[in-house]
Amino acid sequence: MTANSQWNGQFSRFDLVAKTPERCRTVVHIRDLAIGADSFVVMAGPCAVETEHQVLETAEAVAAAGAQVLRGGAYKPRSSPYSFQGLGVEGLKILSKARRETGLAIITEVMGEEDVGVVAEYADIMQVGTRSMENYALLEALGSCGRPVLLKRGMTARLEELLQSAQVIAEAGNAEIILCERGIRTFETATRNTLDLAAVPVLKTVSHLPVIVDPSHGTGVRALVPIMARAAAVIGSDGLLIEVHPTPEKAWSDAAQTLSFDDFDEMMRDLRRYVSMPPAFEVAGPQLLVAGGAN
Ligand code: PEP
Ligand code: MN
Repeated sequence: MTANSQWNGQFSRFDLVAKTPERCRTVVHIRDLAIGADSFVVMAGPCAVETEHQVLETAEAVAAAGAQVLRGGAYKPRSSPYSFQGLGVEGLKILSKARRETGLAIITEVMGEEDVGVVAEYADIMQVGTRSMENYALLEALGSCGRPVLLKRGMTARLEELLQSAQVIAEAGNAEIILCERGIRTFETATRNTLDLAAVPVLKTVSHLPVIVDPSHGTGVRALVPIMARAAAVIGSDGLLIEVHPTPEKAWSDAAQTLSFDDFDEMMRDLRRYVSMPPAFEVAGPQLLVAGGAN
């Protein structure tokens, strides 16, 4: 595939993350997961860590439906200073309790370079949010954090700029990077963002890094999440990032785009027709099956 021909000759600006004959695929290993290999990895959970009960309940539900990674923001980048800002370290502790109880790996956002150390103590994957894609001090600090990084596309960033930010992390010493398309700002207002699905085949053509899609932020509309998740799977995304909450309409942030447990389970069943995922019971582990069966 030829991406925009203007990109020709510019790979030197992101040579560490560009695909070459010698390096055509990076597989990011986290606990027993391989992201960028042949199976499809689903990361799911609330937008924000609100309470221990909310996180544990969600972790069990998404694990039972077949997710392999639990998401949840302990540090929240909010557009308004009056919105909930996250529980911080207390939230990280809740996530690690959910990991102990379910076996799910943890992804959570890190917003500033001063938090890299503490977030890396608890998280399996460090998420860089859309507002931080150009925070070069943060990207550099992630070079030595010892954890894989999920780098979200800036909401006004071109793919070339996303790859340049990935290059900053790689140059700083960390080649374990997962790229994430989460929608960009356009003139369209029917959806919260415009989910640029063409980004997936473009990025997979020019880069060796795994690429996942976040249709929750990409659309901002609950009803659109499952169908865009299916589209992402069909075009070769390596996985998904999905917002799920026990009572979505009461979520403290991003309620309109958040799935219920039933919506999520239905979405996962649908996806099995398009991608290979480990059976849910292998991921969830027997204790969850017993818990589910007893109810
Ligand atoms: C999130 O994943 O909750 C988040 C804040 O995402 P983004 O940075 O894409 O807005
Ligand atoms: Mn969110």
